[in-house]
Amino acid sequence: MRGAVLHAPGDVRLDQREDPAVVAPTDAVIRTVAACVCGSDLWGYRGVDPVTRPTPMGHEYVGVVEEVGADVELVRPGQFVVGSFFASDNTCPNCLNGYQSNCLHRQPLGAIGCQAEYVRIPLADGTLVATPGTPDDAFIPSLLACSDVMGTGWYAALAAEVGPGKTVAVVGDGAVGLCAVIAARELGAERIVAMSRHASRQRLATEFGATDVVTERGDEGIARIREMTGGIGADAVLECVGTEQAMAQALRSARPGGNVGFVGVPHGVAVDGRELFNSHVALRGGPAPVRAYLPDLVERVLDGRIDPGRVFDLDLPLEQVAEGYRAMDERRAIKALLRP
Ligand SMILES: [Zn+2]
Repeated sequence: MRGAVLHAPGDVRLDQREDPAVVAPTDAVIRTVAACVCGSDLWGYRGVDPVTRPTPMGHEYVGVVEEVGADVELVRPGQFVVGSFFASDNTCPNCLNGYQSNCLHRQPLGAIGCQAEYVRIPLADGTLVATPGTPDDAFIPSLLACSDVMGTGWYAALAAEVGPGKTVAVVGDGAVGLCAVIAARELGAERIVAMSRHASRQRLATEFGATDVVTERGDEGIARIREMTGGIGADAVLECVGTEQAMAQALRSARPGGNVGFVGVPHGVAVDGRELFNSHVALRGGPAPVRAYLPDLVERVLDGRIDPGRVFDLDLPLEQVAEGYRAMDERRAIKALLRP
């Protein structure tokens, strides 16, 4: 089969890879219907994360089950499935506590590589969620978004305790930040401030439910949020970038007693303990336990309540995977969908 492989920074290719097969009895193999390029894939593509050997790429996927191992009971060949970027058993104590992305037996799909024609899914019963019947093609982008960015935005909002009546600020206008706006709206936030400088992303944020847009960054951005909130800061701030500047902006934009949910993979982020202590801000983040939210998110998509698939502004055949990376790297595209 063919799959995307990162050979060196800036050099991603569609290579011939070994066909996946059921290895453990809890595995399934899916035929990929759609995959995509994640903002976090760009850390390696840009050389920020070292590339030491040819690396299969991608951790977001929807597909049709081809084959299951002897111990798989909940998913069957022919079913259309969505899964998260960590395989999880969904039965261990961490899973039962709602932290499937910290499953005691978790396996990262990123190490398997989902930008490929077929994918082996470990712990298939715990990882995959089947849709009722085969969904209409129009739903594919939004179902794919649930595999990571929508689930991650959802977690950011829950981690920051977004709820009815709250004022929420979203730092980051990438796919996760935009999905975080959807999550804040669905969870009943009264005011949702999208922090964005790009006209097309501001427009999408507004259509997703943002009530205000702040274009300033850094100290000026923080000052704007305080100005809009009677001088104190937002109840909840969702940090969806992962840089030092974004984290500082998030922490200082939250009110005393407020919450920051951080889901951008931190790169060079240091949090000052004394400043955090004095701020009275609560901080929770990490890789999102997307599996916990998948049944609910899939239902919201199929009911037409949410359409996070609109973050895909580039739709390419898998052959053009290199162009997908280039377009996202150059910020010509928010997120690239790939169809094998
Ligand atoms: Zn588990």
